[in-house]
Amino acid sequence: MLKGKIAKLAVSDVRFPTSLEQHGSDAMHANPDYSAAYVVIETDDGLKGYGITFTVGRGTEIENEDGRGEKGHSEPPRSGMKRGHKKEMLKEGYPAYTTSCAWLGYSDQQLTQLCSTALTEGWTKFKVKVGADLQDDIRRCSLIRKMIGPENSLMIDANQRWDVAEAISYVTKLAEFRPLWIEEPTCPDDILGHAAISKALAPLGIGVATGEQCHNRVMFKQFLQASALQFVQIDSCRVGSVNENLAIMLMAAKFRVPVCPHAGGVGLCELVQHLILFDYISVSASLENRMCEYVDHLHEHFKSPTVIRNAHYMPPKDPGFSSEMFDESVQKHQFPHGEVWRSILEKNGS
Ligand SMILES: [Mg+2]
Repeated sequence: MLKGKIAKLAVSDVRFPTSLEQHGSDAMHANPDYSAAYVVIETDDGLKGYGITFTVGRGTEIENEDGRGEKGHSEPPRSGMKRGHKKEMLKEGYPAYTTSCAWLGYSDQQLTQLCSTALTEGWTKFKVKVGADLQDDIRRCSLIRKMIGPENSLMIDANQRWDVAEAISYVTKLAEFRPLWIEEPTCPDDILGHAAISKALAPLGIGVATGEQCHNRVMFKQFLQASALQFVQIDSCRVGSVNENLAIMLMAAKFRVPVCPHAGGVGLCELVQHLILFDYISVSASLENRMCEYVDHLHEHFKSPTVIRNAHYMPPKDPGFSSEMFDESVQKHQFPHGEVWRSILEKNGS
């Protein structure tokens, strides 16, 4: 048991200029700078704890305020682990899909090159950002489907771009590319809208995935009760800590809906890998239609970065929640006075 008292709490606004290369661009965020409110808590007997919340830039100012509130991280429970599943994960890892090939702002040439590299690395599941322009999306989905072949999985993500009727009509036009799911087709709070979209797309074999913007377990409960989603996308930073995510995973298991976490950004892959391993080992015990998002950016800033082998998350070996960043990375990327931002802002003349 911890004996020390919290003696110090520091919050940093850490931002990475990912918009310079269009990493993370989608139908709602044309120029995102992947960012984090990074919190370090110190006790009076010398222990330190680290936590992050992801944003795409200016939202960090709000998160820094929240960081002083009740949204800290806690230790995942360790009881009830099933030995066989644990062994399997240690050997083979948890299946992942990649979003890194097809950000909305990438050119066709970049998309082709990234997809071809991913295929040689063993990736079999690919997500494409859609929602800004139908003809553009038809061309990009066709390109990816041709490259990955009929057996591999393709998912599409509209980042809340449409209203309900528009989502149904738009996705119907992309059905020929056989997406497994449409992610965030409309406003993330519109539970009945998602239910209508789910019902309309079910005959096409396309599910609805959402959750990265769901702010608490009650939202997930109602989504599940209304049959408004077919894939639960928990996020390691969005709801109130690990415990709330555990409640969501348990509800998903009750409704027999697979959990396929949202990840990427800054540190989300590092954090969520713990949750998805727990889900498999102690809750769902199934890999059917289950996979965890992977985005290949910014892992180098973490002391215990995610390890991907043959398109699988390998279980982390270091203790803790893999949320500690290198001091140097935090200092250099502090907004607006870290050296990276000073030089960008000077160049832009602001
Ligand atoms: Mg998404």
